Amino acid sequence: MHLLVLPGDGIGTEITAATLAVLRTVSDRFDLHLNIEEAAIGHAGLRAHGSTIHADIVEKARRAEGVVLGPTSTFEFKDPARGEINPSMMLRKSLDLFANIRPARTYAGFPLRCGEFDLIVARENTEGFYADRNMEAGSGEMMVTKDVAISLRRITRACSERIARAAFELTMSRRKRVTIVHKANVLKVTDGLFIESCQKVARDFPAVAVDDVIVDAMMAHVVRNPQRFDVIVTTNMYGDILSDLTAELSGSLGLAASLNAGTDHGMAQAAHGSAPDIAGKNVANPLSLILSVAMLLAWHGRRRKANAFQVAAAAIEKAVEAAISAKESTGDIGGRLGTRETGEAVAARLRA
Ligand code: ATP
Repeated sequence: MHLLVLPGDGIGTEITAATLAVLRTVSDRFDLHLNIEEAAIGHAGLRAHGSTIHADIVEKARRAEGVVLGPTSTFEFKDPARGEINPSMMLRKSLDLFANIRPARTYAGFPLRCGEFDLIVARENTEGFYADRNMEAGSGEMMVTKDVAISLRRITRACSERIARAAFELTMSRRKRVTIVHKANVLKVTDGLFIESCQKVARDFPAVAVDDVIVDAMMAHVVRNPQRFDVIVTTNMYGDILSDLTAELSGSLGLAASLNAGTDHGMAQAAHGSAPDIAGKNVANPLSLILSVAMLLAWHGRRRKANAFQVAAAAIEKAVEAAISAKESTGDIGGRLGTRETGEAVAARLRA
């Protein structure tokens, strides 16, 4: 499998290095023959190639069989004319990675915040309120006068149906329950279309129980009783916000794994940002990216009917579970190791 690895900014380089240690170990242990190519994005890309994501890197990503994307300093990238582009947006858009799958589950080994739970947020990734990806040309956000700003939200039947299908397919191997999260009491047209599209797809999955919850009420429900949920399907921005909450409820944003999946491409990406407050200190939790990579290997294995990749993904998850319960992890989840040492501890368990 040819993998393109893009370390990024802030904690990105640290968590990517720890993840590479795990990837190299599983490659040897399960004969995956991973061919790992690295390229500079974010500030390093800007310095080296004049762009936070050079067009050549997008081409490399298109040719690779999987991408591992570290977090970048997105908030600092303001002017595309100076090469300051959000790499995550560029890859999601160019590779049509429409499904952002963000699991959140608790682990034995540190105090539970809301009891044990295991859920997945399936977030639409290509439209919604995200001004940098919802227009063919121009921006979805505009300044009408110096005191008036407008932001457009795009919701399409096609994009809503495809994320709904991804959510229903996911729940079929789980607890067969999908919750649609929306704000259709106010955004009657757009979220109305989203719900209608999800319900249309639901008709192909009669075994699945479906309900819907308004996004603000969802904040209370998911804190009060996260056990109630299996797969949650929602639009881009609600999913982005909700999945940070579910990750933190599970223990830490440092466990926030995610897979961006399209029809032909997959990209592992931690759901959190570049965390400048803890960058360079060897304290960031790399398990978010390590678990994301496990999702990518499983995705590849399913598509290629290559069982070794699924076995390797399951082994990584098991090694992470064991490392967490032995406190061989970072301080955010009660462990006593640094970023690098946490990667080494997971790798050591995979070799054992
Ligand atoms: P950005 O501007 O790149 O989005 P941010 O700091 O605004 O960065 P996040 O990176 O998502 O947003 O971080 C939010 C909080 O979660 C911060 O306090 C950060 O330190 C913490 N955090 C994020 N990722 C991790 C991690 N892998 N391990 C431990 N803590 C993390």
